[in-house]
Amino acid sequence: MKAVLMKEVNHLEFVDVENPQPKDDEVLLKIMAVGVCGSDIPRILKYGSHVLPIIPGHEFAGEVIGYGKDVHNWKIGDKAAAAPLIPCDECEWCKKGIYSLCEKYRYYGSRNNGAFAQYLAVKEHNLIKISEDTPFEWGATIDPAANALHAFFRADVKQEDTICVFGMGAIGLFAIQYAKALGIKTIIAVDVNDEKLATAKACGATHIIQSLEEDAVERIWHYTDGKGVSVSFDMSGVPIAQQQAILAAGKMGRVVYLGISHEGLSLPEKAVDNILRYQLSVMGSWNSFSNPFPGREWTEVAELMADRKLDPSLLISHKLELDQMPDVFKKIEKKEIVFNKIMFYPNGIEQAS
Ligand SMILES: [Zn+2]
Ligand SMILES: [Zn+2]
Repeated sequence: MKAVLMKEVNHLEFVDVENPQPKDDEVLLKIMAVGVCGSDIPRILKYGSHVLPIIPGHEFAGEVIGYGKDVHNWKIGDKAAAAPLIPCDECEWCKKGIYSLCEKYRYYGSRNNGAFAQYLAVKEHNLIKISEDTPFEWGATIDPAANALHAFFRADVKQEDTICVFGMGAIGLFAIQYAKALGIKTIIAVDVNDEKLATAKACGATHIIQSLEEDAVERIWHYTDGKGVSVSFDMSGVPIAQQQAILAAGKMGRVVYLGISHEGLSLPEKAVDNILRYQLSVMGSWNSFSNPFPGREWTEVAELMADRKLDPSLLISHKLELDQMPDVFKKIEKKEIVFNKIMFYPNGIEQAS
């Protein structure tokens, strides 16, 4: 089959490799769509992977074309997406059902081969059914959407909350769509990019803030009638936004950090003060899993997509063939491409949209 292999850091090659064979507990998927995750970019360009060489790619969906003898719930032709984490099921955190914190996990696309390829054998345990009329490329975005839902579950978000979201990448935009689906009345999107803010508006943001031109914190307090938001999310991993996420929260507010910054954070006096005076809860959100694995983050997203309450087509900025991938990563490295979700179609674009 054709695949994109990462041989070493910042070195992708479009190559021929052996077709995978499903083990007893695995389903063989014909990969119809696979997205580039924000985490793939530093993994491929800067840090490398836990295992090299490796086929990256962990946001994917495909068609069942075979399975091992212990698989009973799938048949040829079914449509599936997959959760990329393979938890150990033995550590303290797996036993508690908090799989995102597993201490000995494997992962499709970083520790096991992933889906930048025409076929992949995936554990039955990891598969999620997607409905007949859910496009494969939508299925390939369940991962970022499930990350957004996990952050909402961390903060126990309810319909009566007011929210702001910093960072309109895929997870941020899904957060906006999910907030709308929940019936939340005040949904504030913050970004530095006008196009992404326009998409946020289309996704259901009631207010958008261009934070290079406007004072985001002042605007958020204005839009919430001087109360601040009850839940503030940072999906950007940018320290200034992490700071503003705290300053945006009102009394008893919850602040959720999801975006990875790869750097430190210092807080102004006002932010530190607010944490205590307003009794803020500042919490982290990591990955997308809960009990039973892979969790209601995954099943709920699949249902919301089937019901057309989440619309990934607003996020997909590029639709490309697999052989274009090495080139695309060069463009990403040189910042020659403005993108949101870049989608690849290892078995052709026609059947996947
Ligand atoms: Zn991802
Ligand atoms: Zn574990």
